Amino acid sequence: MKFKYVIVGAGLAGLTMAERIASQLGEEVLIVEKRSHIGGNVYDSYKDGILIQNYGPHIFHTKEKKVYDYLSQFTDWRDYQHEVLSYVDGKLVPMPICIDTLNVLYGLDLDEQSMKEYIYNVKEDIDEVKSSEDVVLKNVGRDIYNKLFKNYTEKQWGTSAANLDSSVISRIPFRFNHDTRYFEDPYQGMPKEGYTKMCESMIDNSKIHVLLNTDYKDVNEYIKFDKLIYTGPTDYFYDYKFGKLLYRSLKFVSEIHSIDSYQEVGVINYPNDNDFTRITEFKKLTGQIVPDKTAIMMEYPGFDDEPCYPYPTEEYSQKFQQYKQLMDKEDNVIFIGRLAEYKYYNMDLVIKSALDKFKTHIKGE
Ligand SMILES: Cc1cc2nc3c(=O)[nH]c(=O)nc-3n(C[C@H](O)[C@H](O)[C@H](O)COP(=O)(O)OP(=O)(O)OC[C@H]3O[C@@H](n4cnc5c(N)ncnc54)[C@H](O)[C@@H]3O)c2cc1C
Repeated sequence: MKFKYVIVGAGLAGLTMAERIASQLGEEVLIVEKRSHIGGNVYDSYKDGILIQNYGPHIFHTKEKKVYDYLSQFTDWRDYQHEVLSYVDGKLVPMPICIDTLNVLYGLDLDEQSMKEYIYNVKEDIDEVKSSEDVVLKNVGRDIYNKLFKNYTEKQWGTSAANLDSSVISRIPFRFNHDTRYFEDPYQGMPKEGYTKMCESMIDNSKIHVLLNTDYKDVNEYIKFDKLIYTGPTDYFYDYKFGKLLYRSLKFVSEIHSIDSYQEVGVINYPNDNDFTRITEFKKLTGQIVPDKTAIMMEYPGFDDEPCYPYPTEEYSQKFQQYKQLMDKEDNVIFIGRLAEYKYYNMDLVIKSALDKFKTHIKGE
């Protein structure tokens, strides 16, 4: 088999590339995907009649009008502003931190000015910020760190925030107002009929061919190409030549409950209780109306399940740089996406990167 373009991975990076190549260049594309479905980590499906996101809650938000306009060709949107609460000391407090967070957490009655004074008095003087712990202590002080960040970070990463690069919590958003929305981006929402439908629409083109349930290495020798677009893990591509790159993974456990509503908002974080980090109730995100039944999902961090987040330590950043030197020398392979670039990417930035690389690396603009 010969295709001018072969894409490994049917996540948003691979699908965006496929869509552009087929629609803009009129070329045939083959996508090889090892899972049984397209969409990568944004895949959603129905469980007992309720739309759930199989790899955890995904909320679309972006500052990039170009990305929003691009995706809007393939979906309508449900207007949704994400809200997250954190369960601390028996109370539910808004995240990220705003006036209401401190008022509920400490039983205060702060306004903008008094919140500024409060934070000024509790934050710590740290000259050289070396870790994620330092970032939080410098911004909001030890008690807020202990209640909201310390154990959550430890659960999420399996190590103390003191051992994690400052970039992991590079900026703690906190607001001196009553805005309890999780994101402030101008474009926010959920695809009206879900991500899988949106992804199907992206590749609804007879020039795009998809081979599911197939690891590309199993078919590599049978498929010839001029350009390979690779969105899988880089270490695997190079047969772990420099050793494995570490990813923090998540185990996703979903349940159906015979009640109309399970919790106050779409996502509740549990920094100090339980082994899971958060609970998502999908109907609150999707707006789906199903009486007397709801679907929730718990996320258990670990190292053995779906690779989700590059592990942000010096050791693995350096290891990736060794791979990067090889990647930069490849003439007919384009590496793109969160696994190949060993980088935490939100959906919008993956799509932006794919749109940009299509122009520079494929169209040659
Ligand atoms: C729990 C969680 C929540 C998130 N929430 C948000 C959110 O709210 N908002 C947001 O903007 N972003 C969110 N993200 C980020 C979002 O998931 C990513 O930006 C996006 O899915 C990345 O797309 P991708 O194509 O790079 O990777 P992926 O979606 O991982 O796609 C890569 C594909 O390649 C396939 N593949 C890998 N190796 C091979 C192989 N050898 N052969 C064949 N196929 C292979 C994989 O099976 C996969 O389908 C979240 C991520 C996680 C983990």
